[in-house]
Amino acid sequence: MKRIAIVGGGLAGVAAAYFLARAKAEVEVVLYEASGRLGGIVETVREGGFVVECGPDGWVTEKPWALELARELGLGEDVIWSLDEGRKTYVRLDGRLEAMPDGMRMMVPGDMEAVERSELFSEGAKQAFREEIGRAEELKAMAPEGDESVGAFVERHFGREVLEKVAGPLLSGVFGGDVGKLSVRAVMPAFVAMEREFGSLILALKAKTRGEKRPIFTSLKGGVGMLVERMVAEIPAGWVRLGEEVKQVEKVPCGWVLGSSSGTEHFDAVLMAAPVDVARRLLEPVDRRAAQLMEMEASSAVVVGFCFADGFDLPPGFGFLVPQGQGSLLLACTFTDQKFAGRVPAGARQVRAFFGAKAGERLLACGNDEIASVARLELGRMLGRLPEPVLTVVRRWPRSLPQYAVGHLERMAELNGRVKALEGIWLLGNGYRGVGLPDLIRDAQAAVGEIVR
Ligand SMILES: Cc1cc2nc3c(=O)[nH]c(=O)nc-3n(C[C@H](O)[C@H](O)[C@H](O)COP(=O)(O)OP(=O)(O)OC[C@H]3O[C@@H](n4cnc5c(N)ncnc54)[C@H](O)[C@@H]3O)c2cc1C
Repeated sequence: MKRIAIVGGGLAGVAAAYFLARAKAEVEVVLYEASGRLGGIVETVREGGFVVECGPDGWVTEKPWALELARELGLGEDVIWSLDEGRKTYVRLDGRLEAMPDGMRMMVPGDMEAVERSELFSEGAKQAFREEIGRAEELKAMAPEGDESVGAFVERHFGREVLEKVAGPLLSGVFGGDVGKLSVRAVMPAFVAMEREFGSLILALKAKTRGEKRPIFTSLKGGVGMLVERMVAEIPAGWVRLGEEVKQVEKVPCGWVLGSSSGTEHFDAVLMAAPVDVARRLLEPVDRRAAQLMEMEASSAVVVGFCFADGFDLPPGFGFLVPQGQGSLLLACTFTDQKFAGRVPAGARQVRAFFGAKAGERLLACGNDEIASVARLELGRMLGRLPEPVLTVVRRWPRSLPQYAVGHLERMAELNGRVKALEGIWLLGNGYRGVGLPDLIRDAQAAVGEIVR
């Protein structure tokens, strides 16, 4: 019988185990998880009627794989959508919260009248938006053949202000990235395709979203953790080894040998779903060039969920972003109960503070109480003094947001070639082909498809 090792029980590893179980193939599987729980960055705390997301709080609706999986797991009735009728995102600007114009798709306006009314942008930025449509042919001709940074791409279309106020803070929350280094082709492929076809992103968005009414985000009533819990319920319990860290990976003539705290074992195939830093270290002795290609910067995130028994006023909408240089340690804040229904008991409130970049790095070393105090103080400066929370949840996610730097796709193509040549090993997780939950699920399913075929 084929023996398969899965290294890492985050969403990627759990999904791989689930798809292997579902395939009902003649396989013996060991899922190694270094910590004492499965799910990795995906974790939902449920307490006193509150649903607190410690990592992801949903996924983008336009990528179908997570929703398909949720339905297959019998969670169709639990699927919820973001409350888009109230969707508004604010940007902190000189100490106040300015709403982004309605209808923006990241930095691209879907409604030019809303841009004209907006207090967020200067006259210069509004002019850049107006002119982008007329520059369609020029922009098409200027598009580079190869990769470039997100910064260069956005600035070419809309100028520096839009980059700093909107694209920068939006992307650093997802990719932990410095827009001057992030690869536009890896991070915003849809916008690159739109530029190639239409030149102007505003014209492209208009053409592509005509009549579209899809909610932006999807989640589950009991939180994203439900996905992991349901998959785990389908995985034979004997497959899972909690608290067992893989320390060594060796390629042998007829497969792979893995060394962990409980000894060494032989496998026919390995699904490497540990974070990219760990995977790189483990693969270094097997293929140095592959390990080099896996070197990437990553930023750390610190998340603080505050739950309040009694309601208080918040601006309508999903939350706010803080651009660099605005004198706050916060990167973003979510008004949790205004983004998704069912996250709080009746009349209660939940907000979530998100620290990344340098502040995230610094806070990692602080205790929970200290982190919570900083978060409360920073939120209070923006939202007014907050009441005493009935529940506070703090999570640190060190180096959890890998940065896809310019040239990422080319590096991944080379890495893919090398990994294929090694035979019997697959790289899964958020360091390679997308960081979102749907991407990870798609990749796990594809890898399992290749193994059982
Ligand atoms: C704060 C935050 C918010 C996010 N929000 C969203 C969102 O809203 N929507 C979205 O789609 N995505 C979001 N993401 C991204 C998404 O959550 C991650 O990309 C995804 O959860 C990563 O899953 P993974 O399985 O690749 O890695 P991880 O979750 O990091 O799991 C890796 C696992 O490997 C284990 N491990 C490590 N070393 C070893 C070893 N040597 N042996 C065995 N096991 C090992 C770890 O303990 C861990 O459990 C967010 C990320 C963060 C940090």
